[in-house]
Amino acid sequence: MATLEIRDLHVSVDAEGEPKEILKGVDLTVRQGETHAIMGPNGSGKSTLAYSIAGHPKYTVTGGQVLLDGQDVLSMTVDERARAGLFLAMQYPVEVPGVSVANFLRTSATAIRGEAPKLRTWVKEVNSAMAQLQMDPAFSERSVNEGFSGGEKKRHEILQLELLKPKIALLDETDSGLDVDALRVVSEGVNRVRESGEVGTLLITHYTRILKYIKPDFVHVFAAGRIVESGGAELAQVLEDEGYEKYTGVQAEDD
Ligand code: ADP
Ligand code: MG
Ligand code: MG
Repeated sequence: MATLEIRDLHVSVDAEGEPKEILKGVDLTVRQGETHAIMGPNGSGKSTLAYSIAGHPKYTVTGGQVLLDGQDVLSMTVDERARAGLFLAMQYPVEVPGVSVANFLRTSATAIRGEAPKLRTWVKEVNSAMAQLQMDPAFSERSVNEGFSGGEKKRHEILQLELLKPKIALLDETDSGLDVDALRVVSEGVNRVRESGEVGTLLITHYTRILKYIKPDFVHVFAAGRIVESGGAELAQVLEDEGYEKYTGVQAEDD
């Protein structure tokens, strides 16, 4: 069973020439088969955690470790991270003009599996995953993320997740900007992957509403750059009822 360990992670960003510490000692262990939710107010550093693990150049790790089965993730290239079994869906996915969704998925699958998937079974796999996510087959010919609506981006993320079958997946704000139908479809995709028992998921979100569809095994409250409380699914209900005020001392904006 693969295990992602985040140990005392400290991360800074360059804020107009001055380093600013955003992550102030994050400790978290995610095992294959587990679903963790990280919940916290806007600006608490949730995306910074995701970007740091993804290896985004804007974020400098100043202390701590990220290990996948004991291997140092932070010294891996972005490709190596994917091949090691990490899947990182970003809050603001990049556009890849000229590369179709179909090509992108097949290239990714080839890189991760170490060999090209057999074309015939692959096409079936892609078509069936797209149908389950209620995606138009024509979508596979579009350029990656170019002009995608919010909902299309999220479905595309979950399509990748289902086809690439990573060991550990980080999903940042997969629920934001989705209407109720899209939220349900996307959640069902996450749940299918979860039921396989082969994927550990770290679901990062500001909202509690996705947790009506996905029941996490663990909920962690994130505030001011670290995890300040951990519990089971019941903690999400407490957050729904009481908000983040008790953790921040600041009344949240009503969004
Ligand atoms: P969240 O995802 O929880 O809303 P973020 O990780 O996006 O929080 O941001 C955490 C804090 O770090 C915020 O105060 C944000 O302004 C700051 N921050 C994040 N990225 C940068 C950056 N590239 N440059 C300057 N400040 C940043
Ligand atoms: Mg934010
Ligand atoms: Mg964020």
